[in-house]
Amino acid sequence: MTDEYDLIVIGGGSGGMATARRAAAHGARVAMVERDRLGGTCVNVGCVPKKVMWYASETAAALERAADFGFSLGQAAPGFDWAALCRARDAYVERLNGIYATNVERAGIELYRGTGQLRDAHTVEVDGRALHGRYILLAPGGRPSRPEIPGAEHGIDSDGFFQLREQPRRAVVVGAGYIAVELAGVLHHLGTETTLTVRRDGPLRGFDPLLREALTESLEVDGFDLRTHFVPAACERQADGRYTLVAEDGRRIEGVDTVIWAIGREAATDGLGLERAGITPRADGTIPVDDYQHTEVESVLAVGDVTGNDFPLTPVAIAAGRRLADRLFGGMADRRLEYRDIPSVVFTHPPLGTVGMTEPEAEAAYGADQVTCHQTRFFPMNYALAPQAVKRRTAMKLVTVGAEQRVVGVHLFGEGADEMLQGFAVAVRMGATKADFDNTVAIHPTSAEELVTL
Ligand code: FAD
Ligand code: NDP
Repeated sequence: MTDEYDLIVIGGGSGGMATARRAAAHGARVAMVERDRLGGTCVNVGCVPKKVMWYASETAAALERAADFGFSLGQAAPGFDWAALCRARDAYVERLNGIYATNVERAGIELYRGTGQLRDAHTVEVDGRALHGRYILLAPGGRPSRPEIPGAEHGIDSDGFFQLREQPRRAVVVGAGYIAVELAGVLHHLGTETTLTVRRDGPLRGFDPLLREALTESLEVDGFDLRTHFVPAACERQADGRYTLVAEDGRRIEGVDTVIWAIGREAATDGLGLERAGITPRADGTIPVDDYQHTEVESVLAVGDVTGNDFPLTPVAIAAGRRLADRLFGGMADRRLEYRDIPSVVFTHPPLGTVGMTEPEAEAAYGADQVTCHQTRFFPMNYALAPQAVKRRTAMKLVTVGAEQRVVGVHLFGEGADEMLQGFAVAVRMGATKADFDNTVAIHPTSAEELVTL
């Protein structure tokens, strides 16, 4: 039995869902194949449950600081119940799964529950059933990578983190990217004795040096155990059931009950049948696409993390997918996502946000003599009453180029950076100059005002 569609989408995560719904809104006949929970990584084991945990850990930090403002709450994070938090979080995620299912139904998208595989460039097979499509969209996302070292199986990954029903007492998070710093921060602030190991000189390589420096300083203020140049060589199981993480240089971290690998993600393309459609993935499994999300086969497209683009983020997958549907079915011939000036926030404590070029990137692109940076570091006013020892400094940098000082990068670390960045990203996209920033009247008293008074 074969069913005919304008578009068949493999993957009901951020990119697949957005494309399917927009295509259906344009009147296309759409099928979506999903083998797991609707919403994909972001909703189930990514942005959403992570942000809930981040809010919880920010609350713990706020409780610790309540005394500065005259409250006497006793011990830090009084009566914190990890299991209760996780139950509430999971119930929220389940509600979102339900909302997604309703949205799919209302959009008239036909949902197939199962694993989709390409049979050829126009056919997707789901549990023995063939679906025929004018276009096929691949949006299978990715999954956490694991190190190839002895004992790797003793550790969990970010998916496993969201399954923890008990709070780890002693955790080690291995990795240096978004997920490593976010999960380590959550655990630390919720009271788990946490170590973050990075294999080079610090976390978040590739971010602007000012932000890396500010984050490292803040981790120190928070009493964070950061081990640098720690290249994991083995994870050993101790006689008491706990684990020891061993580095290549022989350093050992003992007595760990939870080891979390956060060393990157890989594309979920195995078993997708790419070769049957004539598509050759890159060596890392990602699928090459052109500026319009087409694979090397005209009828097969791809969006989201699976494309190996530089910004594996939910809004990027959504934006690429919606523009694609507008182009294929909405008569907007040139619609596509430009993969530049994309803002993102790392939910550290405090958060860290970045849009556009870092200082080294701008220097490499325009020449050092063309680049002017404006930066500041200060203690935000919410620490006005706090003891010096707990104060975390905010850091901000504008990277500008040329005589007119066009702002090509905004880099923020500090309380409120997460909510502050979006508006400044608009300014960067519009080509704002330093003078435009200076001509904007400040909002006082805020941290954000520093960006227009630099
Ligand atoms: P996914 O959302 O992964 O969706 C892919 C879907 O395809 C899945 O539902 C999967 O089950 C399904 N699938 C795969 N293969 C098949 C198949 N053969 N047949 C049927 N179904 C299939 N991004 C942000 O912007 N902000 C954040 O704060 C953020 N936090 C994150 C935190 C964590 C811990 C992680 C892991 C990621 C986070 N991300 C965040 C990244 C974000 O989740 C991803 O960029 C985004 O989900 C990618 O969307 P996607 O559509 O490409 O894939
Ligand atoms: P990242 O690519 O961000 O970071 C992984 C890092 O781990 C590498 O950069 C590397 O850093 C380090 N690493 C790699 N291999 C090893 C190893 N064998 N041993 C030790 N360290 C290793 O991946 P993540 O999994 O953290 O996140 C994936 C993507 O998901 C992110 O890029 C981001 O786009 C998205 N995401 C977004 C979030 C947000 O928007 N807030 C939150 C979470 C994820 P180095 O080379 O410096 O050692």
